[in-house]
Amino acid sequence: MPSYKAPVDDTLFLIRDVFDFDRYRDLPRFAETPIDVVEAVLSEGGKFAEEVLQPLNRSGDREGCTRDADGNVATPKGFKEAYKAYAEGGWMGLAGDPAYGGQGLPYFLAVALSEYIIAANLSFAMYPELTNGARAALQVHGDDTLKRRYLPKMTAGQWTGTMNLTEPQCGTDLGLIKTKAVRRPDGSYAITGQKIFISAGEHDLAENIIHLVLARIEGAPAGTKGVSLFLAPKVLVNDDGSLGERNAVVCGSIEHKMGIHGNSTCVLNYDGAKGWLVGEENRGLNAMFVMMNAARLGVAVQGLGLSEVAYQNAAAYAKDRLQGRSLTGAKAPDKPADPIIVHPDVRRMLMEIRAFNEAARALMLWVALSADEALESPDPAARRAADDRLGLLTPVIKGVFTDFGFANAVKAQQVLGGHGYIEEWGMEQFVRDARVAMIYEGANGIQALDLVGRKLPRDGGRAVMAFFGEISAFLAENKKGAALAPYLAPLESALGQLQQATMWLMRNGMKNPDNAGAASNDYMHLFGLTALGYMWARIVKAVLARQSAGASNEALDSKLALAKFFNARMLPEAGAHLARLASGAEALMALPAAAF
Ligand SMILES: Cc1cc2nc3c(=O)[nH]c(=O)nc-3n(C[C@H](O)[C@H](O)[C@H](O)COP(=O)(O)OP(=O)(O)OC[C@H]3O[C@@H](n4cnc5c(N)ncnc54)[C@H](O)[C@@H]3O)c2cc1C
Repeated sequence: MPSYKAPVDDTLFLIRDVFDFDRYRDLPRFAETPIDVVEAVLSEGGKFAEEVLQPLNRSGDREGCTRDADGNVATPKGFKEAYKAYAEGGWMGLAGDPAYGGQGLPYFLAVALSEYIIAANLSFAMYPELTNGARAALQVHGDDTLKRRYLPKMTAGQWTGTMNLTEPQCGTDLGLIKTKAVRRPDGSYAITGQKIFISAGEHDLAENIIHLVLARIEGAPAGTKGVSLFLAPKVLVNDDGSLGERNAVVCGSIEHKMGIHGNSTCVLNYDGAKGWLVGEENRGLNAMFVMMNAARLGVAVQGLGLSEVAYQNAAAYAKDRLQGRSLTGAKAPDKPADPIIVHPDVRRMLMEIRAFNEAARALMLWVALSADEALESPDPAARRAADDRLGLLTPVIKGVFTDFGFANAVKAQQVLGGHGYIEEWGMEQFVRDARVAMIYEGANGIQALDLVGRKLPRDGGRAVMAFFGEISAFLAENKKGAALAPYLAPLESALGQLQQATMWLMRNGMKNPDNAGAASNDYMHLFGLTALGYMWARIVKAVLARQSAGASNEALDSKLALAKFFNARMLPEAGAHLARLASGAEALMALPAAAF
């Protein structure tokens, strides 16, 4: 049976030592959140993930969700009680607006905690995650009546939320949406159409489900310019806030899918369901983007969470499983064979996963802290810079973390050999569950295009220039330090390669857009590796500072070893990405479609 231990100490090291928590004191939410509150939230939340959610992960996978003839969906045994405990524990409203019953804690804390919840039980985590995204969209674009009516109960976890974009003919290209909205005399709309693949679309965890639905108002322009966003509850809400009649939206079926079996993925049929406009007519994508951006960060964390839990189980196995002898002589001569952790190739797999995990955790926190700054910094220039960073890095971490998340789950499975393929060890579930994160919330190919086509050129390249400037300034400031310098040279080289790739895109992407499309995946990964390398540099700086202040422990030494490994064996991949992308589109586009 797999197990999970929330890496609370590592998160706290990053918050305190690497990102210097006190530096954020000028942000109102941070001023009211002492570090001991951060510690308490992480350790209590970690315990909840380990003790309540993780034990339901495997049983939830095996049992899955079931739908009855009326379209009601039951979640696996234990999910209902766990959800009740989660909502009553206040975890749902951790970073929620106090005006609607939230605790008003910094956003980064909710993100840090979400890693533990996801690692323990991704299927469960998706119910609150989608609610958080729906809440964010309502908070920004909903009118006061909608906010007052829906936000308090969603913040308390009494009601959950969903996002309804996808239709049978419409996935990536949201301009193809057909679902219709017809104005009613009372100001509401009648929504008719079919949505597919809707996560948490129907379930028995909460008394109401608040669907945020993209639809086209009669007479709206074609394409994405004619798409509007609506709120359509599963159960209509009376003026006094009590629940009224069932709305005309039913779950037509649930998908039988590769993983995340504990999360209901639904076909939702809308048959004149009552809905209310969120934001302006025909500006639905703009409003939905708030939810999609929050969800993209959430899905990035899914890559990290699954990579971490898969690593923990593979590492434990590798220390225990006896096979063969070390190439340099027996390490456990009293036993019939050495534990497989002695073999370089087994270590390669474990080190690759862990060197990703620790830097990715740092990068996740840096991005989440940027979201806090973008929202609350009293300095307008700092707010703008943080917002630029958040926008630039969101597609990078969604695409890179989830690609690594799946690859790492497979590597961890490989550490277990044949046992990794057998259900009872749980590794094959991590592989299956990790796979979807590369697909939903904009498939990773679309993240790469978003980075290259939208985020790089935006505002004359201001965000990317600031990113380069930040790393260059860090290198200039630190590379004279004798202890730190050896860790920085590989980062400097990767940064140079990323800058060359950016120049290549500027020169070649405009004149032939296929060059940009063909380069996009390598560019996103080159970007991700450089950002992870920068995180390792900052981690090493913090470790060396601790050590020179007299601290010494195995965890600190491990971080230096992992940084060296990342620089020696993972960062060099940056050069391959550059070489591939600079070869242009020609080789990739050579075959005519008929030849495939
Ligand atoms: C388990 C699960 C849960 C989901 N949950 C939700 C949910 O809660 N709400 C919701 O609305 N949707 C949800 N989805 C849908 C998901 O977001 C879509 O599957 C995803 O956006 C891709 O759309 P598609 O499947 O139609 O693929 P397509 O759009 O058909 O894409 C197929 C492939 O072509 C590529 N591609 C498409 N267009 C381009 C282009 N212009 N340039 C380059 N490459 C391109 C894509 O990257 C992809 O690899 C879920 C899906 C799954 C599997």
